[in-house]
Amino acid sequence: MPIYTLEAGQVVQGIKSKEFSAEEYISQLFERIEKVEPKVNAFVTLNKEEGLDRARRLDKKIRDGEQSGPLAGVALSIKDNICTKGMKTTCSSKMLESYIPAYDATVIKRLMAAGAIIIGKANLDEFAMGSTTEFSRHGPTRNPWDISRVSGGSSGGSAASVAALECAASLGSDTGGSVRCPASFCSVVGLKPTYGLVSRFGLVSYANSLEQIGPVGRTVSDVVSILNVIAGFDENDHTTTNSSKPTYSLQERKGLRVGLIKEFTEGADPGVSKMIYKAAETLEKQGCKCEEVSLPSVQYALASYYTIATAEASSNLARYDNIRYGFDMNPEGYEWNSYFARARSNFGDEAKRRIIVGSYVLSSGYYGKYYLKAHQVRSLLKREMETLFKKYDVLIGPTMPILPFKIGERIDDPLKMYLVDIDTVVANLTGMPAISVPAGFADGLPVGLQIMADQFAEQTMLDVAYLFEQAAKVQRSPEL
Ligand code: GLN
Repeated sequence: MPIYTLEAGQVVQGIKSKEFSAEEYISQLFERIEKVEPKVNAFVTLNKEEGLDRARRLDKKIRDGEQSGPLAGVALSIKDNICTKGMKTTCSSKMLESYIPAYDATVIKRLMAAGAIIIGKANLDEFAMGSTTEFSRHGPTRNPWDISRVSGGSSGGSAASVAALECAASLGSDTGGSVRCPASFCSVVGLKPTYGLVSRFGLVSYANSLEQIGPVGRTVSDVVSILNVIAGFDENDHTTTNSSKPTYSLQERKGLRVGLIKEFTEGADPGVSKMIYKAAETLEKQGCKCEEVSLPSVQYALASYYTIATAEASSNLARYDNIRYGFDMNPEGYEWNSYFARARSNFGDEAKRRIIVGSYVLSSGYYGKYYLKAHQVRSLLKREMETLFKKYDVLIGPTMPILPFKIGERIDDPLKMYLVDIDTVVANLTGMPAISVPAGFADGLPVGLQIMADQFAEQTMLDVAYLFEQAAKVQRSPEL
């Protein structure tokens, strides 16, 4: 078996026991990338020289008998909206096409300290706004299971690079489903932590009150290893919780109470719901008690999400004036307003749409009608979820209501595009953790099982995810 196929945990073992060197592993991965990238397009920047250099230094450390960290040698791709010192961070936008951060995001610092090797930056929808990675300046990322289909988004590059065996794992960001959606479409594991568990310092903001950075991997175990490294208080992000640093583990637990959200399965493609009912049966066989439950205000969730997300986005994107960050545009011949307008016309259509909608819902005549209402829905949804968590350990449903669709199929219809987020936005609006685990295939295309838990109940959520993964044994990698 080629070493690039190994899971993160196996890589650490292999390197530490000198079965293979980190340099061999990283070189093999770059060969793999060269082979499959023309089909997949998961990366926007490759970090080959530095990656190999870090691998050689790690090999020396191991030869010298020094400590090497829990992620020693693990090759990661990083979504290109997470700041990496000295390495371009473009957000797949013209507005940041030449931006090279002067600092690392907190998550990057922690991963590097744990021995991980960043091999490149992964494609995304511009500023993480989208569900397919089609709104990227670098072209769409293609689904490794069928390259005529979307990879999901906005962390499409992250999930596709992991599925296509171009790296062991990745980091994405999840504002309304962007880690879980592509994880589901590409049949890998993707986790959105509880709001406040992982530092957002160095994540380019889209909608601050909704988003978290989250790991993507081929197994629940790999996702746990990364979460253990990145989670915990950060003095640079005061939305992080200052309770003691959690450590998650893999444990088999029986008798957990599972609620299946009926609104999620009712609204899904028949092929998708069938797989989810099958997943519930699998959990039952493993000793869980599953029941259908209702979450009535989910009908307002999308409207609430898109109101709050665009409002926050309109404010966050105001800083891109091509003066502090930007691209090469000669100011000669412009007065201030026309320069500003001309420069900002370089946002893509979807980002512009969100700036306009977001400014509208915040404007004085409409604030109460839209923005305030959206927050009322958010509170309502949170109360309904909290009530359910008094009775159930986890709630499950599909991650995505549909199967990965053809590239171009929804790109011209924003509403149709937004609808695919119906099952993922709930976790962001309520701040609760959620994970997508491969559930199987319908018509040969991946289906993801979503598992949600109460705030900071990641361990319970992971227990169910691990139990399901061990029992379901879903095929992991596509032929490419
Ligand atoms: N698809 C959603 C949006 O476009 C979610 C994006 C995300 O989670 N970053 O807003």
